[in-house]
Amino acid sequence: MSAAAAARQILTRLHEVMASRMHAQAKLDRVVEIIGESLDSEVCSIYLLREAMLELFATRGLNQSAVHVTRMAIGEGLTGTIAENVETLNLAEAKAHPDFLYRPETGEEKFHSFAGVPIVYRERAVGVLCVQHVEPRRYEDVEIEALQTTAMVLSEMIANAELVDEGEARELTQGQTGMQTLTGLALVKGLAAGHAVFHQPRVTIDQVMADDTEAERQRVYRAFDKMREQIDNMTNQAEFGVGGEHEEVLQTYKMFAYDEGWSRRINEAIDSGLTAEAAIERVQQRTRMRMREIDDPLLADRMHDLEDLANRLLRIVSGQLGTAASQGLRRETILIARNLGPAELLEYDSRRLKGVILEEGSLTAHVVIVARAMGVPVLGRAAGLRGVIREGDEILLDADAALATVRPSQSMAEAFDARFAKSREKQATYAALRDVEPFTRCGTRIQVMINAGLRDDMSSLPLTGADGVGLFRTEFQFLVSATLPQRERQLRLYRDVLEAAGDKPVTFRTVDIGGDKAVPYLRDDSAMEEENPAMGWRALRMALEREGLLKAQARALLEASSGRTLNVMFPMVSEPWEFAAAKTVFEEQLAFLKKQKKMLPEAIRYGAMLEVPSLAEMLDALAPQLDFLSIGTNDLTQFLFAADRSNPKLAERYDWLSPAILRFLQRVTREAIRLDIELGVCGEMGGRRLEALALMGLGIRRLSITPAAVGPIKELVRKVDLAEIASAMDDWLRDPSVNLRESLMEWAKQREIEVE
Ligand code: PEP
Ligand code: MG
Repeated sequence: MSAAAAARQILTRLHEVMASRMHAQAKLDRVVEIIGESLDSEVCSIYLLREAMLELFATRGLNQSAVHVTRMAIGEGLTGTIAENVETLNLAEAKAHPDFLYRPETGEEKFHSFAGVPIVYRERAVGVLCVQHVEPRRYEDVEIEALQTTAMVLSEMIANAELVDEGEARELTQGQTGMQTLTGLALVKGLAAGHAVFHQPRVTIDQVMADDTEAERQRVYRAFDKMREQIDNMTNQAEFGVGGEHEEVLQTYKMFAYDEGWSRRINEAIDSGLTAEAAIERVQQRTRMRMREIDDPLLADRMHDLEDLANRLLRIVSGQLGTAASQGLRRETILIARNLGPAELLEYDSRRLKGVILEEGSLTAHVVIVARAMGVPVLGRAAGLRGVIREGDEILLDADAALATVRPSQSMAEAFDARFAKSREKQATYAALRDVEPFTRCGTRIQVMINAGLRDDMSSLPLTGADGVGLFRTEFQFLVSATLPQRERQLRLYRDVLEAAGDKPVTFRTVDIGGDKAVPYLRDDSAMEEENPAMGWRALRMALEREGLLKAQARALLEASSGRTLNVMFPMVSEPWEFAAAKTVFEEQLAFLKKQKKMLPEAIRYGAMLEVPSLAEMLDALAPQLDFLSIGTNDLTQFLFAADRSNPKLAERYDWLSPAILRFLQRVTREAIRLDIELGVCGEMGGRRLEALALMGLGIRRLSITPAAVGPIKELVRKVDLAEIASAMDDWLRDPSVNLRESLMEWAKQREIEVE
């Protein structure tokens, strides 16, 4: 008999039992009979979790007196091992297995062969279904598959309290596992508490057994078509290239999406009587089990891809589309995702979004920059989070310590609350620095400005007492819009921003789109196949070619700045002529406005971002045209090290305090001083205290940073003697054997300057 036919036969009979009005225990007793008979097995038993122990709930073939008596801890004996590892065991000789544990009350000594499968609910074992035989023989694949399908049906019945009493079902399906800790990389520091919400919600399967198999088959066909279409579109548009999900992932998606084996297995599961949803999940469970047996990190990565895809298929087939953002957050939330784009994060209600945990992520990925600006702590590179976190779980996120506690114990929650209170106290000391000007110990005024991108960010200016906005990322408006923001809309935003800034300066950066800031409506066909979007047709490169775009933005900025100074800078300038060309576009628009007799800005100051290393070699050519230079260390480091800033595998590889970067910055700073160029730093680096200390030591006097860092940086500035740190930096950078991070730490420690 085929696996499908065997499973189908069992399912039909189970269906009848469920439809009957028997008591829960009587149903379980029938279920073991049915399975035992169908698989021609002398023994069939069901163990279920009760009070964290696996308890024998029903058996055919073992001593009935053992029912509700035999109990096994998770990890104990064969059943405990199956539950612990959520894996199938198929043994010709049970006693030969190292985990075998003999329980005399069951009378199982005469049985040799043993096969058991976990009963899984929400990726956790809530019980074990097993069969035993007198003859030593391994069960065949068809039998194991029939058992696994049955276990799936059982889990649904348990969840619906058809097989156990309501109270037991609740115990089985809720919080049955205790506290667990996840570690990762602190991408945005801070503390947060909330309930887990998956960005891509897991589909809940309401019906496991199908009423009409043919209809289910059609549903799966249609869903596969739709999914393949989606994947093809993604590959074509490379729009998916947010964060680390690049080419490789897409190719794997494509491979799985077109994998005949996968669709065939799902169809077979439908043949056995399952609904489309249950069939997809059923096949997924089996794949998970297989993959677990192969201990290979590369395969584990691919497994994630398949999980994503299976979840996508499930969402299509069930019509449960949309991310968690579209459903709205109902309570304080810790968002869980593999990775996110900045626009996706911005879709969430910032009042309820308290923290983010990503499987991937890197410090300078734009989603992380956005989260930092929103004041939302982010833990990244939290491998294996799917095995630990379930939708709705309570989570304490401690990004300062680079970890998250899932389902915390009472005492853990109390300790966390105490730390939370302390951190709020610390915040209060920073807030107290709001009106204190950041003078160094030696009396130099350091400019501390904020990076912003949204209208809402402007509230940080009065809150932090920063000196202005050193970088306004105008592309954020483009990222959060479904369509291209027209000039009028841009003008309105810039006006609002300037108004909110009052008499403090704002430096607008013209759009920097491309790289990890893909905007579907601005792509053109030739850009779709970019292999390296970060080094591709982005920022000023795109803006100079799509002149209409830059013109509209220039007009909007000029008009918004009427009667005041417009500070504007261009991203990704690689050669001086690009800067000149962009400046010309502005000057032409200015002339146009003049002709129109519009009110003009009092002055225009043009700046370039230094983020492409080539520009550092051309500062002398650039200087005469330039009013200021702003070093974008995020891109600069990615290009200096040739290390994709959004690739999580490289997130920890290179240090901002490496001599390569610092020597480079030292050269640029000296050159800028020589050429009398006004200089600042606006990358994430400047918002970290140790790094900021190094930058001051190199001669940087203006930092534009994430708003949350203003307080800590002001506190630092007030403790620093510039001549002292400059001479130390000089010495260290001359000596290639010096570890700069350690030296800076030690330097700060000796002076009791807090740098963490
Ligand atoms: C940078 O590259 O350092 C920078 C400030 O710009 P962005 O992070 O927006 O690329
Ligand atoms: Mg940049």
